[in-house]
Amino acid sequence: MFEIGRPMTTVGFCRPFRDTWDRARDRCYRFFPCLSDPARRSSLCLKVALVMLHLVFAGVLFLFDRDLIEKTRREPWYTALYVLLFVATLAQYFFTSGSSPGYVLDAMRTANETDALFKKRSMTSKQPASSKNGSLIVTVDGNQLGRNFLGGNATYWTKLVMDMYPSGSSVRSLTCTYCNVVQPPRAKHCQDCDKCVLQFDHHCVWLGTCIGQGNHCRFWWYICEETALCLWTGILYITYLKANISKAWWIDVIMILLLVILSISLIFLLLLLLFHSYLVLTNQTTYELVRRRRIPYLRGIPERVYPFSKGACRNLYNFCCAQSGIYSMEALPTAQELEGKLKPYTCLDVISCRCCC
Ligand SMILES: [Zn+2]
Ligand SMILES: [Zn+2]
Repeated sequence: MFEIGRPMTTVGFCRPFRDTWDRARDRCYRFFPCLSDPARRSSLCLKVALVMLHLVFAGVLFLFDRDLIEKTRREPWYTALYVLLFVATLAQYFFTSGSSPGYVLDAMRTANETDALFKKRSMTSKQPASSKNGSLIVTVDGNQLGRNFLGGNATYWTKLVMDMYPSGSSVRSLTCTYCNVVQPPRAKHCQDCDKCVLQFDHHCVWLGTCIGQGNHCRFWWYICEETALCLWTGILYITYLKANISKAWWIDVIMILLLVILSISLIFLLLLLLFHSYLVLTNQTTYELVRRRRIPYLRGIPERVYPFSKGACRNLYNFCCAQSGIYSMEALPTAQELEGKLKPYTCLDVISCRCCC
């Protein structure tokens, strides 16, 4: 009896509070419909937490560091630069978080629509695999196109994608069962976004979005800005502690604790920045590097060969100068191209900068 009675009393006692809470929540959802979606709610909470975290680290500094306030009065440009970096980092975070990683479905839609438009305009001329037709925004990189031939029933997209694989590849094995779309090389289905992403790198929980072809560059800049901000804030903390240690012990404890967190974050960010810089220079993705042995088209390629690399300079140029809204796809290298990449470096290669171009 006691065991049954106690929870009932608790439920009865809590009911008015729960009803009030439910009513307040429903009213909130009516004003902000986006909050009724749990995924969007958690994404919003994450963004609020990130802004708060940044404000706490900078705010504590301006609250306790009298020397910094004094310096701001004498040299306002110094603090203005810090605030500028602070705002730019947060803006870059929101910019990256809200950007599209380049979904395969969007690329497919664009390719098919452009093809239909092109066919309507000119029924006689043949559409090349990589073409520029006014606002055509799908480009294909590769010199071995036209290796496969599919029947007339296949869409333009299917033909385009199948040409990027070695002959003999089956459409079925390359079709994503969730999106029902033929995946070009380097694309992968993201379980969190429930979409296939072009040049999939990883799903970033911190940003709440996938990192792919469309936003990898923005992601790199975000890490770069965050690293610079973290480093600068750390320097300001060390400067404070050096000048004001033992003035008020509890302030020192807070400052040291925040400095430790900053140092750990800085190490993590620096390693992440170096790792992604390496990926950019070699034209790889995190997914390809980590799951190399599991990806069918990379399985037979030796570890030291970067199959999609076009030289460090070209890779960097493609990465930095990729126009937003333009989907580009890379064909798998042919056996001949791979053989060329396998050749060991000679003195002549070093002089001619083979690794760069
Ligand atoms: Zn998919
Ligand atoms: Zn994702």
